[in-house]
Amino acid sequence: MSTGLVTPHFYTASDHSGWAGAPPEARANLTSLAQVLEVARARGGVPLRVTSGYRSRAYNAAVGGSSTSQHLTGSAADFVPVGVSLAEWANRVAPSLDPASFGQLILYPWTQGHAHLSLPNRASGRRGELLVEVGRNDYAAWTPGRPFPAWGSAGNIVQSEREGAAQVDLLLFMLIAAIVIAAI
Ligand SMILES: [Zn+2]
Repeated sequence: MSTGLVTPHFYTASDHSGWAGAPPEARANLTSLAQVLEVARARGGVPLRVTSGYRSRAYNAAVGGSSTSQHLTGSAADFVPVGVSLAEWANRVAPSLDPASFGQLILYPWTQGHAHLSLPNRASGRRGELLVEVGRNDYAAWTPGRPFPAWGSAGNIVQSEREGAAQVDLLLFMLIAAIVIAAI
């Protein structure tokens, strides 16, 4: 397997998420994704600590991720902005992101505390979506400048990129080095 710098601030690293067996398509996707992450990093003005990138099917299943997750194709990353709240970061970045350049920016302020950013989804046609998690597999559309809806409020958007169980994810992410790590 290969590890190393993908873009100036993002690199791949060996871990247990299955990167060693990742197909060429996933490697190509991850390169494109890192370029989108670079834009988000620059707009936010802070480093992004990536907690999850590519996931093999086995790893994704182990953390309870959706079977259609874009993590499976190296097309999505989860990260925590360093030194600012998720809300402040999202308000800095979301208004200026080109909607054609990404699939979904999903904010998890009430559980994992991270953001999920993906490439445009060729299969579903999804792009430019801003969502916030408001319940278990329930998401609401989010508009920059608006407060995040409270946990438990009806979002009424069930979508295919559901993350795994929050606590399991967090535990594993702390124990296992992430596949794409933001260089600080
Ligand atoms: Zn994710």
